[in-house]
Amino acid sequence: MQTNEQEFRQIEQFLTERDDFLVVSHVQPDGDAVSSTLAVGWLLSCLGKNYTMVNEGPIPRRMSYLWHSEQIVDLSETPLQSKYKNVICVDCADFKRVGKSHLIFTDDARIVNIDHHPTNDAYGAINLIVSNAAATVEILFDLIQYMNKPLDHDVATALYTGLLTDTGGFRYSSTSPKVMAIASRLLEYGVDGPGLSEKLLEQMTLPQLRLLTKALNGLQISEDGKISWVTVDDEDMRLTGAIHEDLEGIVNYPRNIQGVEVGLLFKVINENAVKVSLRSAGKVDVARVAQSFGGGGHIRAAGARIEGTLDEIVLHVLEQVKAQL
Ligand code: 5GP
Ligand code: MN
Repeated sequence: MQTNEQEFRQIEQFLTERDDFLVVSHVQPDGDAVSSTLAVGWLLSCLGKNYTMVNEGPIPRRMSYLWHSEQIVDLSETPLQSKYKNVICVDCADFKRVGKSHLIFTDDARIVNIDHHPTNDAYGAINLIVSNAAATVEILFDLIQYMNKPLDHDVATALYTGLLTDTGGFRYSSTSPKVMAIASRLLEYGVDGPGLSEKLLEQMTLPQLRLLTKALNGLQISEDGKISWVTVDDEDMRLTGAIHEDLEGIVNYPRNIQGVEVGLLFKVINENAVKVSLRSAGKVDVARVAQSFGGGGHIRAAGARIEGTLDEIVLHVLEQVKAQL
């Protein structure tokens, strides 16, 4: 029997009995968030249902090859007037991560919460949380199997994209035998594995490379060599011409220094807010650190949006990380 059998059954019932769905992922969506949104959209279209896909923030440009990605509405650009009662949230660890999307939920909305973050607080009416899944798309692959829908090239490409990006190219510790088995199945549908790796993990735009160079120029490291961090502000973004998605991957550089246990990226959002990304070499549970600031994530990769000035927040976060070393 499938684990989470009850949730699979409840979700199948929810999808088949109702109509007119809203599919939502987290603010500033990454590969898994976008791919999961599209995989749910694909499943709903197989069922002949009406649905709208939204989030707050643009789809990463390099993911525009994904089937129907242009249909995902960025609510920060295009506010919608309709309200939705049937909501499916994917890859969203907590309710506030849906951002502006909650404005188009009805007051009595029934939320299905499908996610793989161990910090997920089960905010849905139905919660399918599989914290040992490498990506939310892994759970959706199982759901599609459970519902006996034959895969095609479009959904296989989306599912593969989510797996590829959330495992850092099948390298992170989350890359289980099951992940490889699913990837293998997806390749049988003609997914261009090497092409996607090249496009999503290797290629850089020039502004992205310039932003990385600028950030690394300011790299700092603690006296004991265990914590390393970089900062990025609006001026850096403006001078390099970089966009939000170009921040992806920068935090791996401080983390990859030999001897470093925790790498951090501080991105100034405005005068009084900073987004921090945390990455661990394995010893420190950075999800715990992020949670202490109201954020969340995974043991080795987590994030939080924190109120305060950059200097205050750097000090405060370093303190919390040191306490875990
Ligand atoms: P990143 O640093 O790449 O933005 O995110 C790393 C991991 O932490 C991802 O799994 C992401 O979903 C999670 N994460 C990032 N920011 C937040 C946040 O503000 N709140 C929560 N709950 N999770 C976050
Ligand atoms: Mn994910």
